[in-house]
Amino acid sequence: MNTTMRLSSSASKAFVAKVEKISGQKLLACYQCGKCSAGCPMAAYMDILPNQIIRMAQLGMQKQLLASRTIWTCVSCLTCNSRCPKSIKIAEVIESLRETALRNGQRDDRLKIWELSPEARSDLPPIATISAMRKLTS
Ligand code: SF4
Ligand code: SF4
Repeated sequence: MNTTMRLSSSASKAFVAKVEKISGQKLLACYQCGKCSAGCPMAAYMDILPNQIIRMAQLGMQKQLLASRTIWTCVSCLTCNSRCPKSIKIAEVIESLRETALRNGQRDDRLKIWELSPEARSDLPPIATISAMRKLTS
Protein backbone atom coordinates (compact mmCIF):
# COMPACT_ATOMS: atom_id res chain seq x y z
CA MET A 1 0.00 0.00 0.00
CA ASN A 2 1.29 3.46 -0.86
CA THR A 3 1.27 5.47 2.35
CA THR A 4 2.75 8.62 0.84
CA MET A 5 0.62 11.66 1.60
CA ARG A 6 0.82 14.59 -0.79
CA LEU A 7 0.24 18.01 0.70
CA SER A 8 -1.18 20.62 -1.59
CA SER A 9 1.22 23.49 -0.96
CA SER A 10 4.51 24.40 0.62
CA ALA A 11 2.55 26.41 3.20
CA SER A 12 0.75 23.23 4.27
CA LYS A 13 4.03 21.32 4.47
CA ALA A 14 5.57 24.09 6.55
CA PHE A 15 2.58 24.04 8.89
CA VAL A 16 2.77 20.25 9.36
CA ALA A 17 6.50 20.52 10.09
CA LYS A 18 5.85 23.31 12.58
CA VAL A 19 3.14 21.38 14.46
CA GLU A 20 5.38 18.29 14.60
CA LYS A 21 8.32 20.35 15.84
CA ILE A 22 6.41 22.22 18.57
CA SER A 23 4.45 19.15 19.75
CA GLY A 24 7.25 16.62 19.31
CA GLN A 25 4.76 14.20 17.69
CA LYS A 26 4.77 12.26 14.41
CA LEU A 27 1.34 13.04 12.98
CA LEU A 28 1.41 10.28 10.36
CA ALA A 29 1.52 7.62 13.10
CA CYS A 30 -2.22 8.18 13.66
CA TYR A 31 -4.40 5.58 11.94
CA GLN A 32 -7.73 7.15 12.94
CA CYS A 33 -8.96 4.55 15.42
CA GLY A 34 -10.94 7.24 17.27
CA LYS A 35 -10.03 6.13 20.80
CA CYS A 36 -8.85 9.64 21.70
CA SER A 37 -12.22 11.18 20.83
CA ALA A 38 -14.20 8.36 22.46
CA GLY A 39 -12.60 9.09 25.83
CA CYS A 40 -12.47 12.89 25.68
CA PRO A 41 -14.63 14.47 28.40
CA MET A 42 -14.93 17.69 26.37
CA ALA A 43 -15.85 16.09 23.02
CA ALA A 44 -19.51 17.19 23.24
CA TYR A 45 -18.40 20.83 23.35
CA MET A 46 -15.90 20.64 20.49
CA ASP A 47 -16.52 21.56 16.86
CA ILE A 48 -13.72 19.26 15.67
CA LEU A 49 -13.05 15.99 17.54
CA PRO A 50 -9.50 15.14 18.69
CA ASN A 51 -9.00 12.41 16.04
CA GLN A 52 -10.23 14.87 13.39
CA ILE A 53 -7.73 17.46 14.70
CA ILE A 54 -4.94 14.97 14.08
CA ARG A 55 -6.21 14.15 10.59
CA MET A 56 -6.54 17.81 9.66
CA ALA A 57 -3.07 18.48 11.08
CA GLN A 58 -1.70 15.67 8.87
CA LEU A 59 -3.22 17.49 5.91
CA GLY A 60 -1.88 20.90 6.94
CA MET A 61 -5.31 22.52 7.30
CA GLN A 62 -3.97 25.49 9.20
CA LYS A 63 -6.82 27.94 8.69
CA GLN A 64 -9.54 25.57 9.88
CA LEU A 65 -7.51 24.28 12.83
CA LEU A 66 -6.53 27.69 14.16
CA ALA A 67 -10.15 28.89 13.86
CA SER A 68 -11.58 25.86 15.67
CA ARG A 69 -13.29 26.06 19.06
CA THR A 70 -11.66 22.76 20.03
CA ILE A 71 -8.20 24.19 20.65
CA TRP A 72 -9.72 26.41 23.37
CA THR A 73 -12.18 23.80 24.69
CA CYS A 74 -9.54 21.15 25.42
CA VAL A 75 -8.78 21.16 29.16
CA SER A 76 -5.42 19.36 28.84
CA CYS A 77 -6.63 16.42 30.94
CA LEU A 78 -4.39 14.04 28.91
CA THR A 79 -7.04 11.27 28.72
CA CYS A 80 -6.52 11.09 24.94
CA ASN A 81 -2.77 10.62 25.38
CA SER A 82 -3.29 7.67 27.71
CA ARG A 83 -5.76 5.98 25.32
CA CYS A 84 -3.83 6.27 22.06
CA PRO A 85 -2.53 2.88 20.84
CA LYS A 86 0.15 4.68 18.84
CA SER A 87 1.39 6.69 21.85
CA ILE A 88 0.61 9.97 20.13
CA LYS A 89 0.34 12.87 22.55
CA ILE A 90 -2.80 14.46 21.13
CA ALA A 91 -2.96 17.04 23.93
CA GLU A 92 0.50 18.29 22.92
CA VAL A 93 -0.66 18.61 19.30
CA ILE A 94 -3.64 20.67 20.45
CA GLU A 95 -1.34 22.71 22.67
CA SER A 96 0.92 23.41 19.68
CA LEU A 97 -2.09 24.69 17.72
CA ARG A 98 -3.14 26.92 20.61
CA GLU A 99 0.41 28.21 20.86
CA THR A 100 0.48 28.96 17.12
CA ALA A 101 -2.83 30.82 17.39
CA LEU A 102 -1.50 32.85 20.33
CA ARG A 103 1.66 33.72 18.39
CA ASN A 104 -0.59 34.93 15.55
CA GLY A 105 -2.44 37.19 17.98
CA GLN A 106 -5.60 35.05 18.02
CA ARG A 107 -7.20 33.85 21.25
CA ASP A 108 -10.59 32.55 22.29
CA ASP A 109 -10.31 31.55 25.93
CA ARG A 110 -13.40 29.84 27.29
CA LEU A 111 -12.54 30.88 30.85
CA LYS A 112 -11.38 34.51 31.06
CA ILE A 113 -9.78 34.24 34.47
CA TRP A 114 -8.61 37.87 34.48
CA GLU A 115 -12.24 39.03 34.30
CA LEU A 116 -13.26 37.20 37.49
CA SER A 117 -13.40 38.84 40.90
CA PRO A 118 -10.89 37.66 43.53
CA GLU A 119 -13.80 35.93 45.31
CA ALA A 120 -14.87 34.06 42.18
CA ARG A 121 -11.26 33.04 41.51
CA SER A 122 -10.88 31.62 44.99
CA ASP A 123 -14.00 29.47 44.42
CA LEU A 124 -12.60 27.92 41.21
CA PRO A 125 -11.42 24.31 41.35
CA PRO A 126 -7.58 24.34 41.14
CA ILE A 127 -7.62 22.38 37.85
CA ALA A 128 -9.68 25.15 36.19
CA THR A 129 -7.19 27.78 37.34
CA ILE A 130 -4.21 25.73 36.18
CA SER A 131 -5.77 25.03 32.80
CA ALA A 132 -6.69 28.69 32.26
CA MET A 133 -3.22 29.90 33.30
CA ARG A 134 -1.54 27.34 31.05
CA LYS A 135 -3.30 28.89 28.10
CA LEU A 136 -2.06 32.35 29.14
CA THR A 137 1.56 31.26 29.28
CA SER A 138 1.89 29.34 25.99
S1 SF4 B 1 -6.49 16.55 26.67
FE1 SF4 B 1 -8.07 17.72 25.58
S2 SF4 B 1 -8.51 16.53 23.73
FE2 SF4 B 1 -7.43 15.18 25.17
S3 SF4 B 1 -9.05 14.10 26.27
FE3 SF4 B 1 -8.51 15.90 27.51
S4 SF4 B 1 -9.90 17.53 26.84
FE4 SF4 B 1 -9.98 15.89 25.30
S1 SF4 C 1 -6.16 7.41 19.54
FE1 SF4 C 1 -4.20 7.84 18.48
S2 SF4 C 1 -4.22 6.57 16.63
FE2 SF4 C 1 -6.33 6.65 17.42
S3 SF4 C 1 -7.30 8.39 16.31
FE3 SF4 C 1 -6.51 9.20 18.23
S4 SF4 C 1 -4.42 9.94 17.72
FE4 SF4 C 1 -5.06 8.57 16.07
